[in-house]
Amino acid sequence: MTDEIENPVSDAATKPKRWSKIFDCCKACGATVIAHAGKGFCRNCYNLQIENKHKSHERIRGVAAKIITKEFLKKEYIDNKKSLTDIAIICNCTRQFIFKKMREFSIESRNLSSSRRLAISGKKLKYEKISESGQVEIFLQERHSVNETFFSG
Ligand SMILES: [Zn+2]
Repeated sequence: MTDEIENPVSDAATKPKRWSKIFDCCKACGATVIAHAGKGFCRNCYNLQIENKHKSHERIRGVAAKIITKEFLKKEYIDNKKSLTDIAIICNCTRQFIFKKMREFSIESRNLSSSRRLAISGKKLKYEKISESGQVEIFLQERHSVNETFFSG
């Protein structure tokens, strides 16, 4: 068996010199006149990449801010009864950001008791009671749709 490996020297002689070891041109702008800086980007594009990387968090916020309109929040939070956390996941942003937007649009956030009520809505409340004979009895109570905030002052 003879060593018939392609000769890299003769190959390079027939082809024009590559822009970088791996790339023929800048993978962002296609330029070959600007020197390769790294990862397939020319100096100009490489700098842009770094800037964009730093801005990526702001970009996500920018996208979220576009989705999060007053109508969207009202629909998800009030109509669909989603939590701030749920909405934050949908919008790929923080719960705090949703909360901030809620205040911005003057959408009232649910208070704790109503949040808890919603969390168990659709189910019957379960009570355990120990009877005089020492047996545990389980009671199920239908929920009444009384707004507790009416009585809390
Ligand atoms: Zn470039």
